Amino acid sequence: MSLKRFNFDEPESNLRRCEKCGKALPRRYIYDICEQCEHDAMYKDVKEYIMKNNVTELEVADHFHLPLETIQRWIKEGHLSYKKN
Ligand SMILES: [Zn+2]
Repeated sequence: MSLKRFNFDEPESNLRRCEKCGKALPRRYIYDICEQCEHDAMYKDVKEYIMKNNVTELEVADHFHLPLETIQRWIKEGHLSYKKN
């Protein structure tokens, strides 16, 4: 292992940060905001979608291309309030 490889003279512009919270993003991360902020932003959309439409968890997951477990976790964690039939 060589210290030469340490990133001291890495151009500053290579360090990407979340546009919302400023958290450093992994270099290969393709989004401009971190996962947490992305989810935060998505909660709102999902919430609205659920309010406007009479949909099941599965339909919500489908619509937002999210794993069903994610939707269920959000509901469980109280991020979403979901009216069950
Ligand atoms: Zn963020």
